[in-house]
Amino acid sequence: MTSFGGEPNKPHFIMVPLAAQGHLIPMIDIGCLLAERGVSVSLVITRGNADRIQPIFEQVKESKLSMQFIELKFPNEKFGLPPGWESVDHIMTSPDRFRDFYDAIYSLDQPLEAFLETLEQPPDCLITDVCNAWTASVARKFSIPRVNFHSPSCFYASVHYNLVLHKMYDRVTDVNEYMSVLDFPVKLDVTIAQTPGFLNHPGFEDLRKKYLEEESTADGVMINTILELEQLFVENYANAICRKIWTIGPVCLYNKDVEMKAGRGNKEAVDQRDRVQTWLDGRHDASVLYVSFGSIMYTNPQQLMEVGSGLEASNKPFIWVIKKIEMKPVLEKWLSEGFEERTKDRGLIIVGWAPQMVILSHPAVGGFMTHCGWNSTLEAISMGVPMVTWPRFGDQFVNENLIVNILKIGVGLGVKMPNFASEDAVMVKNDDVRKAIYTLMDGGIEADERRERSKNFSEKAKMAMEEGGSSYVNLTDFIHHFTKNPVSK
Ligand code: UDP
Repeated sequence: MTSFGGEPNKPHFIMVPLAAQGHLIPMIDIGCLLAERGVSVSLVITRGNADRIQPIFEQVKESKLSMQFIELKFPNEKFGLPPGWESVDHIMTSPDRFRDFYDAIYSLDQPLEAFLETLEQPPDCLITDVCNAWTASVARKFSIPRVNFHSPSCFYASVHYNLVLHKMYDRVTDVNEYMSVLDFPVKLDVTIAQTPGFLNHPGFEDLRKKYLEEESTADGVMINTILELEQLFVENYANAICRKIWTIGPVCLYNKDVEMKAGRGNKEAVDQRDRVQTWLDGRHDASVLYVSFGSIMYTNPQQLMEVGSGLEASNKPFIWVIKKIEMKPVLEKWLSEGFEERTKDRGLIIVGWAPQMVILSHPAVGGFMTHCGWNSTLEAISMGVPMVTWPRFGDQFVNENLIVNILKIGVGLGVKMPNFASEDAVMVKNDDVRKAIYTLMDGGIEADERRERSKNFSEKAKMAMEEGGSSYVNLTDFIHHFTKNPVSK
């Protein structure tokens, strides 16, 4: 473990992301943004996750940002987890190991405390993923102000908080029954199945209780969003939790050049960069559909074949990301025995990790079929790309509602039931895929208006991050807030 007390005369912020790529990636961007603005940043990460993001280490080193990665050993052996299982995506197909995984995460309090003991000066602030509720006691013990980072949208954070506040999780007997979200600025009906909340499963009651308690005890909340996009919900959530909220996104826009965009999240993307760029360079503007379902969601082979058939029937150029764990022999056979040949002039399949930001920011991309993870959503918004939406679990159904019904920049596939990691369920048929692509990419005036709105939001996103924009100003305010008013120094 490195001993690093930050640079003299600079505020020192410690960041503790959750071990999941959709949580780690934006926190690294935030760390870089803070460091660019004069903060000395220590980002706590486990060794396996650090290995995945090696290109970012190199970039940070080259840019001479005052940012250190504090590598902790993940206690795989102690909790009987296979070596290398250090991130939520590793555990997705083994739900029986979820509890061990979270217990392992919760045991990181000891090494984090050991690191804090080495510091000559206490840090000014601890920015922790709201899912890392275990950091609250560490922050209290060392009297460090703690800010919760929410990786989902504020819309989702607010919906979930209101459901908890009105005891809807206790009241509802049928998880598929629709109910209205009370005290909410817009009319919204959701089911508990679509909005389960973090760790709301049997066997996790203690961890969920701690999560809910510590959500309300933080010294503030940081959200990767744009005020201009979510103002009503930011106000609603801030009033409900009586805490200050800093909206500082979309932080993906920190990554300006193609190297930075490709280096995000997983070193595998760097190898795909040139292939993807060359392929996209040969396409017409806004003609390509990009299909990816994020970093953790598993889709079974039968369902993927339906997606493939829908892509084929759409006649559109496409980039389709299939995860390595999804590439089962039956799917491999299906792809190689006809599909790849029939679509070879207009389809690019990426097996593994795709350089998503490189793809979404290319002018040839005109649509994104997404699972509505908040990072993917914000990345599409930032690049002005309208979406076909297919939520699976967590915050994704609520995000879909924001995309399709409120912002009106997406076409829903019509999925209403969660599909966590099921082996055999086919939720979407190939003709649904074809029709949704047609509506998004060819659908006349409505499609044009959707594209226009997407472009407008992209402008707003970029302006928010520029000097003087809302997110820029909020980040300045955040830095001043925790530098000027340290709680107990
Ligand atoms: N991502 C990527 N390449 C991939 C899959 C995912 O770069 O092949 C990135 C994506 O750009 C986003 C993050 O991983 O930043 C996924 O986060 P999101 O919130 O969209 O979904 P999650 O993976 O958490 O479900």
